[in-house]
Amino acid sequence: MVDNDLVKISKLSKFYGKKQVLHNINFSIPKNKVTVLLGPSGSGKSTLIRTLNGLEPFQAGAIEVFNQVIDSHTKNGWRDIRGKIGMVFQSYDLFPNMSVIKNVTLGPVKVQKRKVSEVLTAARALLKEVGLAEYENAYPRNLSGGQKQRVAIVRALILRPSLILFDEITASLDPEMVRGVLEILKKLADGKLTMVVVTHEMNFAQQIADQVVFLEEGKIVEIGGGQDFFDQPKTLRAQQFLESMS
Ligand code: ADP
Ligand code: MG
Repeated sequence: MVDNDLVKISKLSKFYGKKQVLHNINFSIPKNKVTVLLGPSGSGKSTLIRTLNGLEPFQAGAIEVFNQVIDSHTKNGWRDIRGKIGMVFQSYDLFPNMSVIKNVTLGPVKVQKRKVSEVLTAARALLKEVGLAEYENAYPRNLSGGQKQRVAIVRALILRPSLILFDEITASLDPEMVRGVLEILKKLADGKLTMVVVTHEMNFAQQIADQVVFLEEGKIVEIGGGQDFFDQPKTLRAQQFLESMS
């Protein structure tokens, strides 16, 4: 593992029952960079991202994360690690009966045992950064999809994760909401966070990616530097994919 890598995935395979959905996956996630996972629907992007968070077991290979090796036999190996990994999904699943500020501060106060005053200050600063300073007492039902997704991002960030995973977080938003959420990710990606991003927004992917991992049918077809992948995809499949998305 190169010093600059936060995660190294080696020979990773995963099955759902008898069906193999990830085949011998090998790649590393460099620190403070953005890795974009691309691939057609069903290619295994969500499964891979959930495996990186310990949400899905795997049957072969290993994941080295924060210098700890996890393989398919590791028991409780994710316990210490998971707290350092943030995740934002397509469905924001905020707690509907809690205000925005409560949604955001619950984890750091209850789970991380941080001081309420410190957490409140941090929460307000982050809400301001995503344009939601006025909404701390609002409830999720009163927010637009884009606003809810921004709260979900703040909720992940306030936990100060070392790695943050985003799985198609704009996929269920109305088109006019997408841009605001993507702008926030772009701001976050300016070199202080290690991010893995699954997206179908190719313009955005091109702007944000330091590394692209292109998957098809659970296999890595091509890995490239962000700009190189978009400018000069090496494989025919990647070329076809990019054309189909443009
Ligand atoms: P993507 O996110 O790229 O669209 P997924 O990771 O969701 O792809 O799915 C990869 C493959 O795994 C698909 O064939 C899908 O049908 C299958 N799959 C995903 N989740 C499950 C599950 N819980 N049980 C069985 N098969 C699944
Ligand atoms: Mg998916």
